[in-house]
Amino acid sequence: MLDTTIYCPFISQLNHKEQLNWVEQLNLHFASISTSNNVKVVIGNQLSLEQKQSCKFAIVANPVPTDLAEYPNLVWIQSLWAGVEKLVMKLSNYSFEIVRLVDPMLSKIMSEAVLAWSLYLHRQMPEYMAQQKNNCWKQLPHVLPQERTICILGLGALGTECAKALVHHGFNVVGWSNSVKTLENVQSYSGDEGIYDAVKNADIVVCLLPLTAKTNKLLNRDFFIRMKQGASIINFARGGIVNHEDLIEALDRGFIRHAVLDVFDNEPLPQDSELWQHNKLTIIPHISAPTYMPTAVSIVTNNITHFIDTGEIPKSINKKSGY
Ligand code: NAP
Repeated sequence: MLDTTIYCPFISQLNHKEQLNWVEQLNLHFASISTSNNVKVVIGNQLSLEQKQSCKFAIVANPVPTDLAEYPNLVWIQSLWAGVEKLVMKLSNYSFEIVRLVDPMLSKIMSEAVLAWSLYLHRQMPEYMAQQKNNCWKQLPHVLPQERTICILGLGALGTECAKALVHHGFNVVGWSNSVKTLENVQSYSGDEGIYDAVKNADIVVCLLPLTAKTNKLLNRDFFIRMKQGASIINFARGGIVNHEDLIEALDRGFIRHAVLDVFDNEPLPQDSELWQHNKLTIIPHISAPTYMPTAVSIVTNNITHFIDTGEIPKSINKKSGY
């Protein structure tokens, strides 16, 4: 009998149990939404050569980039993560499109993280924790959210939702992106000089930019000295956007008050990294916005079903800009 199965490889460096879990959930969802299309998600290395050649799309989660070469007829790949920087940087001359995860739930999760860590800085928790270590009872002046300005670098899917949450909490919010945005109660800036206008009055700068050739080490010495003296930084985007040597210098010299870092060039952050012990750094292990499986499964299976039905590929990474 003719095999009408449409194979969708799952290509990832997740451990086997995690891969099985994703594959099971994806197949369950495909079965629940599609009556005419016979899509089957299979861990990539379980497909035959012929089956691999038949694949037009794949679902990936931080795959080994060279593994994708085993599928010569891929038209597009769907990432389960919102950030695909590593993949974009490591793949050269690839012909397929890369679609990253855009999920309103992920934006909500990130906005909660940005609000939480903004409040941590706003309510001076790093200072009170340092005081406690020295048995020090000292009440610092109270500041209202309306008296603080928070700048978000990157007003995309995640940054926009974060801006709304911060506005809702009463902060003054400004943002910077490639194109100027119209967002209620958010002053929007763009352009190479616009970044300095955006950050000059900001007490907290939140980075939610993609890592590209243009944003690589964008937060460096020149940037730190043009920030408001004593402002803080939250980097929830990618480690490569911050020059960590320059950051330590800016912290030690008092230009920057504190930084919350969730992302690093090398993850897990190496045991011998000097960042761990710096008293003006809060280090968290890439947890600000993990993919939420139920909504991700629904979005990814809908994207693939739509492609099978119409031939339309979801919005993909612009190969020129890198995001
Ligand atoms: P997105 O929708 O592509 O938004 C990116 C934003 O950055 C856009 O506003 C874009 O401007 C702006 N931008 C890009 N390059 C720029 C440049 N050179 N100058 C000025 N603005 C620039 O991405 P997203 O979904 O919000 O995700 C942002 C990043 O978050 C991801 O790339 C990923 O690295 C990171 N992330 C981290 C976690 C975590 O757990 N830590 C989780 C998910 C994602 P335009 O709007 O004008 O194009």
